[in-house]
Formats: sequence, structure tokens, C-alpha cells
Amino acid sequence: MSSIIDGTLTANATIASNYDPGLGKPPAPRIAIVTCADPRLTNIVQMLGLADGDADVIRNFGTVIDEDAIRSLVLSTHLLGSKEIMIINHTDCGMLRFTDGEMEDRLRQETGRAAIAPARFYSFTDPEANTKEQIQKARSHPWISPDVPVRGFVFDVKTGRLTEVLPDR
Ligand SMILES: [Zn+2]
Repeated sequence: MSSIIDGTLTANATIASNYDPGLGKPPAPRIAIVTCADPRLTNIVQMLGLADGDADVIRNFGTVIDEDAIRSLVLSTHLLGSKEIMIINHTDCGMLRFTDGEMEDRLRQETGRAAIAPARFYSFTDPEANTKEQIQKARSHPWISPDVPVRGFVFDVKTGRLTEVLPDR
């Protein structure tokens, strides 16, 4: 059975014939977007009416503002010129389907081993509450300028619409 990666290499050799060399220019993003790695979020830039070159898209499982997301946000806003930050969680996220403890137990059982990392999987139960928490984590970071708006949203995978999550007063 041939691998998916081998298939992508064959496809790429053909598809690249139509590649626009202009896309190789240095990037000039206007906005940084943190969202989930879920495949249903892959077209989020188009769903927001932005051009591909407008956005740095930072993705991980569960739309988590963790150390690595912060690293990317600091570089996007200080080095590349992004002026605003959007955090986009979504409905039906896989991270709603288990608790961190359940996942750790499962992995210990499947592998027969304990592991030092990841310390957390960042599962959650309420996308809105979770988004508020991620906004706070980004907003409070000393290397993310107060001039950079940080706003959070939940993307509905059934309708394609965003609902803004407003911070608590
Ligand atoms: Zn997700």
C-alpha cells in the first residue's frame, strides 16, 4: 500500500507547474489568528474574507494559548507586523470529548508507559469559557503590546459563522 506522503509528492510535482512565483515574496501579515488544527478550520482565512497573505495562522489542538502559541504571537506582532490577534475556537472540538486524566490513562494503558510530557492536553468542556481563558492568557503577556487588540470567537462548524466571546466585565 502506498503512503499518503508518497501520494502528496507525486501530486505536488504536477500541481507546482501552476505555482505563482509571486507567492514567494516576503510575508506582510496584518493579523495573527490562533485556531484549532481541526481540518474544518483549514479554510478559516477565506471564511474571514482575508487574502492568504494577510494572516499568520497559528494552529494547535484546542486553540490553546500555550508557550508555543505565545512565541508565535510575539514574533508575528513584533517582527512581522501583525496589528491584531484573533483567537478562534470552534463548536464540536475534539478536545471536548475527553478529560486530560482520561487521555493520560488511555495512553498509559495503550503503551504501558508513563511519560514526562505533555504535562497537559488542555481538554475543555465549554468553548466559550475556554476562549475567555485564552484571551486572558494572550492579553496579559508582557510582550504582547496593549496596542494590539486580542479578541476571541467561536466558529460554528455547521453554519460557518463566528460568535464573539466577550471578556467578563
Ligand atoms: Zn478543535
